[in-house]
Order: sequence, then C-alpha cells, then structure tokens
Amino acid sequence: MIGKKALQELEAKVGKDKVFADREYLLSYSYDATGLEFLPDAVVFAESGEDVARVMAVCRSHGLPLTARGAGVGYTGGALAVRGGVVLVFTRMNRILRLERESLLVVVEPGVITSDLQAVAEKAGLFYPPDPASLKTSTIGGNIAENAGGPRCFKYGVTGNYVLGLEAYLMSGEKVRLGSETIKNVAGYDLKSLLIGSEGTLAVVTQATLRLLPLPPRRLLFRVDFAALADGALFVQRIIQNHVQPSVLEFMDRSSLQAVYAYQGLALDDRVRAAVLVEIDGSPAEVAEREALFERQVAAAGALDRQRAATAAEQETLWATRRNISPAIARLKPKKINEDIVVPGGRIPEMVAFIDGLAAEFNLCIVLFGHFGDGNIHTNLMVDPDDAAEMSRAGVVLDRIFRRVVELGGTISGEHGIGLSKKPFMRYQFSPLELELFRSIKKVFDPDNLLNPGKIF
Ligand SMILES: Cc1cc2nc3c(=O)[nH]c(=O)nc-3n(C[C@H](O)[C@H](O)[C@H](O)COP(=O)(O)OP(=O)(O)OC[C@H]3O[C@@H](n4cnc5c(N)ncnc54)[C@H](O)[C@@H]3O)c2cc1C
Repeated sequence: MIGKKALQELEAKVGKDKVFADREYLLSYSYDATGLEFLPDAVVFAESGEDVARVMAVCRSHGLPLTARGAGVGYTGGALAVRGGVVLVFTRMNRILRLERESLLVVVEPGVITSDLQAVAEKAGLFYPPDPASLKTSTIGGNIAENAGGPRCFKYGVTGNYVLGLEAYLMSGEKVRLGSETIKNVAGYDLKSLLIGSEGTLAVVTQATLRLLPLPPRRLLFRVDFAALADGALFVQRIIQNHVQPSVLEFMDRSSLQAVYAYQGLALDDRVRAAVLVEIDGSPAEVAEREALFERQVAAAGALDRQRAATAAEQETLWATRRNISPAIARLKPKKINEDIVVPGGRIPEMVAFIDGLAAEFNLCIVLFGHFGDGNIHTNLMVDPDDAAEMSRAGVVLDRIFRRVVELGGTISGEHGIGLSKKPFMRYQFSPLELELFRSIKKVFDPDNLLNPGKIF
C-alpha cells in the first residue's frame, strides 16, 4: 500500500498530470494478455529519462516495487505489479528521435508502437523486420524486454538482433548507455544483450538505437493446405532442407483454422487438417528462383491446395487468418494457457506428435500454431478454470510438455518470456547453479529487489 507521503512526493517530482492512484487507473493497469490481475498502488506515465530517475528515487526511499509497462500485451505477466508499488507506463514516450538512412539506424523512445516504427522505416525505403503478431499494439520497450520474435524472425532474427544500443536507468537512478551505434562491437562485456530479454528486471529502457535493413523490393506469400497434421509439419522440414530460404514459415493446425474461419464468418474445407504460410522476399530474380524451388516442394508434398498472394491486399487477407488466431481461439474456452515452446527444427514432427498424443490421452483441446520455421510451437491449452478436473489434467500435460521440450534440446520459451507463468518450469531447463547465477546478476543490478520483483525465478 502506497502512503500518502510517497504519492505526494511522486506528484511533486514528476508532476500531477503523470501520477494516478484512482481505482479506474489502477484497474486499467492491473492486467495483461495473461488475464491475471494485480493492482498496483500508483500508475505513473513517464515522459523522459529524468522522470524515470525521479520515480526510482521515490520508490527507493519508500521501498516500493517498480514495474515498467509498455502496452501490456505481454503473455507471461511481465508487466504485472505482483507486489504492488508503481507501474511506470511508457506509452507517452513514443517519439522516433532520429532516422539515419546512411547508417541504417533509427533511435526511438521505448513507447513507440512496433508497427508505427515499421511504417516510418518503410516510408524511407527501409525495413524493421521484428514482427510480433501483436505489432499493432506492442511497444519497442516491451519487445526489447521480452526479446520478441514473430513470423519474419525465421529469416531475419528476433528483436535483439536489431538492437545496437540502449539507454537505460538502473534502480539506483543512474543512467547507462550500453552497446553503440555500430553493428560490430566487442568492447567489454555485452551488457546490452544482458538487458535484452531481461523482462524489465535489471533496468528500465528509455531509448533504443535499432538497426534497419534495406526494404526487400519483392514479396510473395503462399498458403499451402494439407489433409494431415503430420504432412504440414513435414512440409516445413522440406522447405528448410531444400533451401527455399523463406522469410516466413508459419504453421496452423485444424483447430486454429476452424476457430479463425468461424471468427471471420467463413467456411473451412472439411479435408484441411493443417496449413502452412510461406513468404519469400528479395530481389525479383531471387524471388523467382525461390518460387520455382518452392513450387517443386508443394508438388512433391501432396498438398490439398495452394494459394498465391502477390499484391499487398491479397497478402493482408492471408495474414489476417494467421493474426486472428489468438482472438479467435479465445472463444473456444474461457481460458487459454498459451505456451511458446521451441525445439530444434528437425524435432518438430516428434514434438507435434507428442502433443497430439497428450491431447487425445487427456481429453484436452490443444491448439497448435506458430513459427514452425524456427521450431517455435505456440501450444495453447484451452480450458475452463471452473472445471477442476480439466485444470488438473492441463497441469499434468503442461508439465510433460516442458520436460519433453528440454529432453529434445529445446527451450521453454522462444519469445514470450518467463514472467510469472513459466517460473515453475525454469528448473527443467536450468540447474540450481545456473539459477543461482541469475539471482547473483539480479542482485548486482537491483540489490534491494525493487525492480519488477517476483518474475522469472
Ligand atoms: C495477440 C498477441 C499476439 C502476440 N504475438 C507475439 C509474437 O508473435 N511474438 C512475440 O514475441 N510476442 C507476441 N506476443 C506477446 C507480446 O505482445 C510481446 O511480448 C510484446 O513484446 C509485449 O510488448 P508490450 O509493449 O505489451 O510489453 P508489456 O506487456 O507492457 O511488458 C512486457 C515486459 O516488458 C517490460 N517492459 C516494458 N517496457 C519496458 C521498458 N521501457 N524498460 C524495461 N522493461 C520494459 C515489462 O516490465 C514486462 O516485463 C503476443 C501477444 C498477443 C496478445
């Protein structure tokens, strides 16, 4: 519970128009995409790095936890104030400060919306590839803190691959500048990379220098439908092994497709059990060469159907199916337990078969889709929290899935982070010694455990 004095200090230091403690605000900033809720004691809208330092000073002197927040569309509870305190929102720090075409870089504040940055880059003939499906809402700060991925990350890599430098505030209120404005940089420990994916537990990011690429002149998008789940999973392998080198390799199972077609008011062909989205980009000559290679794989894979989208409007229609999966499957059951496991590419068919078997054995609705190109399988257990028996079966299945993922050489999270949701499973991937190393690092950055406490481990 925040005291009156602390609240007054916050208002005096950053201004009354940035500090809110009325119930509507606390409720509005109490949840994220997990559906979990934790009421903060105050919500502060940062407008500068100086604001961040001032809020930190008040938090330190009153022992209040501080949790950074972007758009609050995280999937693991990272932005939730589990121990109360201040939620520091970055949506007002949303300026693109500098775009340097010659150096292929852009400097942004953390509250910039991902798709806004992409649009600004495209206008300059440039390309910011990281594209989480939440890109129309998520912020660059949240993307950096989660090291967000997305469909195009198969070819282009994740958010971290595009972060050249960071300005951040430590919980001591001191500012650090990590990384540089160059692609190459091996001077000293790579603290910039330590912050990327640290879920706002080590420092608060106030500025990011991001790398841009030249915009690929041509893009083609395809959707290939299959009569069996395994055929779709094997097709992904064929595309990789035969060097088609797509920028996107996305998988959707029958349940995702059924849900999304119902959501869009369309009818799905009864025979379709899986669909794969494939995007090829590059120069016209490269695209033509890869398209020919791709078509040979489609013919050999015995696909039911294949659609080709060449114009931006046609591509948007195909993308809509993929991007609407999350809201569409949310209608299947009251709760979605959403995991983003990853296995090495060659083991995808084995992992998919394992999950399929568990769904049948435990009578659960498990929806699979995601970035299969990089082994990232979005595994959604659709459950009813009021059905105790179903929840208990889901618990057993989750545990088995995470153990199997680690046995197969994978990871329990490819892009959503650990937050609150995956904390219990960290012990499958890390030894007690490794977890102790994490704790030691946290202590160096935040000795009083005030910055986003209760997350990751
Ligand atoms: C429909 C849907 C689809 C999604 N698809 C994808 C996807 O394809 N790929 C993917 O990777 N993720 C996806 N996500 C998850 C989510 O959108 C990403 O994790 C995204 O990066 C969260 O951004 P945000 O601005 O909402 O961050 P928030 O949820 O507000 O915060 C996330 C974490 O970032 C920290 N944080 C925020 N700002 C800062 C800052 N300035 N400094 C330090 N820490 C900070 C928070 O403390 C928290 O730990 C999806 C989510 C939804 C709801």
